[in-house]
Amino acid sequence: MEKRIYNLSAGPAILPEEVLLEAQKDLYSYKGSGMSVMEMSHRGKIFDGIIKDAEADLRKLLSIGDNYAVLFLQGGATLQFSMVPLNLMPPKNKADYIVTGSWAKKSVKEAKRVGAVNIAATTESESFVRIPKQSELKLDPDTSYVHFTSNNTIYGTEWRNEPEVGNVPLVCDASSDFLHKKIDINKYGLVYAGAQKNIGPAGVTVVIIKKDLLERSSDSLHTYMNYKIHAENDSMYNTPTTFGIYIAGLVFKWLLNMGGLDEMYKRNMDKAKILYDAIDTSGGYYKGTIVAEDRSLMNITYRLPNEELEKKFIDEAKKKGFDGLKGHRSVGGIRASIYNAFPKKGVEDLTAFMEDFKKNN
Ligand SMILES: *Cc1c(COP(=O)(O)O)cnc(C)c1O
Repeated sequence: MEKRIYNLSAGPAILPEEVLLEAQKDLYSYKGSGMSVMEMSHRGKIFDGIIKDAEADLRKLLSIGDNYAVLFLQGGATLQFSMVPLNLMPPKNKADYIVTGSWAKKSVKEAKRVGAVNIAATTESESFVRIPKQSELKLDPDTSYVHFTSNNTIYGTEWRNEPEVGNVPLVCDASSDFLHKKIDINKYGLVYAGAQKNIGPAGVTVVIIKKDLLERSSDSLHTYMNYKIHAENDSMYNTPTTFGIYIAGLVFKWLLNMGGLDEMYKRNMDKAKILYDAIDTSGGYYKGTIVAEDRSLMNITYRLPNEELEKKFIDEAKKKGFDGLKGHRSVGGIRASIYNAFPKKGVEDLTAFMEDFKKNN
């Protein structure tokens, strides 16, 4: 077998090896069916089992009750930037948005097409290096929902606890830290996540929505844009992304087998600590870009003394098998994305490389 690299890309991102190997084993003929998952009808018995299992396992992982619908949609998190306001803004036609990075800004852009957006807080003037404090949030108690981004993939900040929003439904873009720990789903009206960062291949978007919110979806919406239609049709109104749902389902089983999300969280904290400690004990050679208490466990951003060294660092790392370390083009620097599937050994090897690089440069 060919050797695999350490993939530190922000997304599409690394998947668990066990999942890839299992999918490979079943790729040509899925469990004796004589065809691959990609080739079978989404209405057939086998795929029906696959999507039902995926949903059941996701419900188990997050203890999702019957008062929530679980949807597997397409269009990425980006389509949710539109679907959320189209479905949930009426009848008040206003919503609060907490802006902590580029993705949040993009969600605001779409929401403004639907109604009035109140920016409840933004840290843009500080280059998004921190998460706003609860006391800074200017929330409207009578608004349709509050939208926030739990992990800011580009800047490398993450909410430790969700904002407190009273009785207003909380909506979360969890694309880059979904299932990295257990969250209390009952605090949320809606959570959405594009799969390609932490739970599967690009193409699937998971939406978890409190059922009473489905009543807000107007019949006048275009059919695909309507959450209620997707819920009534068990994500099968049209052809879903069958292979993506299959792989996400394998990832859910992988998480359950490992001991669930509390165990995953422990491992994620452990991995992030190794890397942040390496940054913080480098005598200032490596500098974290984010306020310490808001640092992401998923996307770890840091700088070297100058851009020339950063370029050299990325090039040499790549030769040693660490790929995807270049920071987002809008911010530069280094970004190590160490999602659920990234192994601890890879983090240890990366810190050893960082130590060597510092000595030699
Ligand atoms: C990647 C990302 C998106 C965009 O996802 P697409 O699937 O490309 O639409 C949105 N929000 C966050 C937080 C992301 O990390």
